[in-house]
Amino acid sequence: MNILLEGYRRFRANGWPERRRVFETLADDGQSPKALVVACIDSRVDPAMIFDAAPGELLTIRNVANLVPPYAPDGAYHGTSAALEFGIRVLEVRHVIVLGHGLCGGVRALLDRAPEQAHEFIPAWMSIAEPARLRTLNRGSAENAHAYCEHEVIKVSLANLMTFPWIAERVGAGKLALDGAWFDIRSGVLMTLQPDGTFAPYD
Ligand SMILES: [Zn+2]
Repeated sequence: MNILLEGYRRFRANGWPERRRVFETLADDGQSPKALVVACIDSRVDPAMIFDAAPGELLTIRNVANLVPPYAPDGAYHGTSAALEFGIRVLEVRHVIVLGHGLCGGVRALLDRAPEQAHEFIPAWMSIAEPARLRTLNRGSAENAHAYCEHEVIKVSLANLMTFPWIAERVGAGKLALDGAWFDIRSGVLMTLQPDGTFAPYD
């Protein structure tokens, strides 16, 4: 905790005076972020840092392996779907980006197996990405299997976004855009999903 409080002290000394105006405006006027990012919980992949976004600019959903579950209004505890509902139906963001990344532990759990001590929730959660696992196994090559699967997981999340009727409707009306991106932790390079299904470095 001390290390966090020391960070807070630095924020109050340096970050806060710089951003005070921004926060005051956001407090007075409310937030109206234009984009929503679905990212992984991985501590090395910070959407605000990667997109150099200021407070108020980016609505962020983070979960294991940046997954979007299929639309299922069944009364269960859908944290990710609730956040999507708020961002898209209430704040009316215009852009959703699914941000995957290299060396993803969630994808490793999907392809290999979940760590011994993490069997209660992770396997069931990662089963959302089963189509990505099958596509990875069936592609006839073992090369870069994890990166390949990380890319496929992004596509599964994008496909699942379209199962939400109020997302499909907005995309159809040109009011909402969906995109995929993948961040290489080692090189810091962002790859974006192309219309042909490949990922290419953004320049
Ligand atoms: Zn991850």
